[in-house]
Amino acid sequence: MCATNEEWFTRAERLFPGGVNSPARAYAAVGGTPPVFVRGEGAYVYDVEGKRYIDYLAAYGPLILGHAHPAIVSAISRAAAEGTVLGTTTTYEVEFAERLQSAIPSLERLRFTTSGTEGVMSAIRVARAFTGRTTIVKFSGCYHGHADPVLGDAGSGTATVGLSHVAGVPAETLRDVWSLPYNDPETLRTTMRKRGERVAAVLVEPVVGNFGIVPPEPEFLRTIHEEAARAGALVIYDEVITAFRFAYGAVQSLLGYTPDLTVLGKIIGGGVPIGAFGGRRDVLELLAPLGPTFQAGTFAGNPLAMRAGLALLDVLAKENPYGELERKAIRLAEGLTAAARRYRLPFTVNRFGGAFSTHFVDGPVRTYADARRADDRLFSRFFHGLRERGILIAPSKYEAWFTMVPHTWDDVEATLRAAEDVFAELARIA
Ligand SMILES: *Cc1c(COP(=O)(O)O)cnc(C)c1O
Repeated sequence: MCATNEEWFTRAERLFPGGVNSPARAYAAVGGTPPVFVRGEGAYVYDVEGKRYIDYLAAYGPLILGHAHPAIVSAISRAAAEGTVLGTTTTYEVEFAERLQSAIPSLERLRFTTSGTEGVMSAIRVARAFTGRTTIVKFSGCYHGHADPVLGDAGSGTATVGLSHVAGVPAETLRDVWSLPYNDPETLRTTMRKRGERVAAVLVEPVVGNFGIVPPEPEFLRTIHEEAARAGALVIYDEVITAFRFAYGAVQSLLGYTPDLTVLGKIIGGGVPIGAFGGRRDVLELLAPLGPTFQAGTFAGNPLAMRAGLALLDVLAKENPYGELERKAIRLAEGLTAAARRYRLPFTVNRFGGAFSTHFVDGPVRTYADARRADDRLFSRFFHGLRERGILIAPSKYEAWFTMVPHTWDDVEATLRAAEDVFAELARIA
């Protein structure tokens, strides 16, 4: 008999380091034992004890239609019946890539991978090949997956478990990656003017999703593009979280800039593992077999992901849910802010479209340093208070809340009532 969350997690701990297959899932930052889930449906997930949670974690970003959306379930079932991996180009890869390309015109050429990590890794490799340079400029607190070169100063994943240096990543690898403060055009400009001729690419989350939701200030974004162009470096947008989160397409179309390369992942696979990278034709055509840069994947472009992705795009195109997702996020953000103010808690909400983050600090939160200052103890009490009341958010002060299509207005109001209770508790201990 093994019925409780506690018992299942103990079994998991005998198998997986920390009981998890990805460290963000552990409750390292907030304490306690994570519930063990058995299924998701719409806006809800259910743990092994049968408890239901309103889900704002959205699996850390891939979900927008919620769990087990009928159109996706049916696409995956049909795909499974016709072979889950075929080992050659399929019609579905072509159709899906054409649809992505028409939504994101900067993708003159692209390739699918099976994770966002591989997409970033491959984009860096081809950018280095194209420019003949080694250095990558990135920004503190931005997360770009777990490939060696991007694990310096890497935001949510590493910060939540308290790691500033990742053991096993050679120092030589990180020497070629300069991590600069986000939203600081001056530091970026100075660095690029001094040593820009060494820079292969500037890699950025165009709207940050990994130390909270942090939009780029206009001068920062302009400086990235101006200084990269001046130095002959490429600009890589990591849109693994942002693409199809805020609009049908990439966030670059809302920001008004065109990067040289874009990395995709998370949402586009309809909940099935996926990644992609693409952009300028002259850069992508360096990839083997056309060029000298090797990049590969046994499961890249597999039919499950392609057909789930196609079904997802159909639903998003038909329903255009973005206005509604944003309205729900606005209501949540405003309701939480007002309640926190009633209890005189230090609290800032950052929001962009249907995604937002909650920081126990007096605002604004524009940089990684700002996000780090947020109170850990208040956050973990807030997290557990919500969890006890059946509201699921990420167990980290650096992660976002995502609204999803199946969230009802009742879910939103229930969430605010739960938060009000929790804030009252926090006010007693603060
Ligand atoms: C999640 C994420 C990645 C890594 O994607 P995986 O599929 O987890 O490898 C890369 N970049 C950003 C911005 C992400 O949020």
